[in-house]
Amino acid sequence: MDRRIVGFHQDDERHWVADLECGHTQHVRHEPPWMNRPWVVTAEGRASRLGTVLNCPKCDPDRTGPVES
Ligand SMILES: [Zn+2]
Repeated sequence: MDRRIVGFHQDDERHWVADLECGHTQHVRHEPPWMNRPWVVTAEGRASRLGTVLNCPKCDPDRTGPVES
């Protein structure tokens, strides 16, 4: 289910985690070449993604697949 990003925080390992409007969270790692999200490492990039949507698997219990979309 698509949920809007309302904020970001870092976990204990300094990975970035998106806070979604539904109250769930989702890692948005930048680990090239598998996870290529250069925007997540800059404040400007993160700010530009506020209000955009991520698929939230926790809101979609019937859907199977990887947790990270
Ligand atoms: Zn959710």
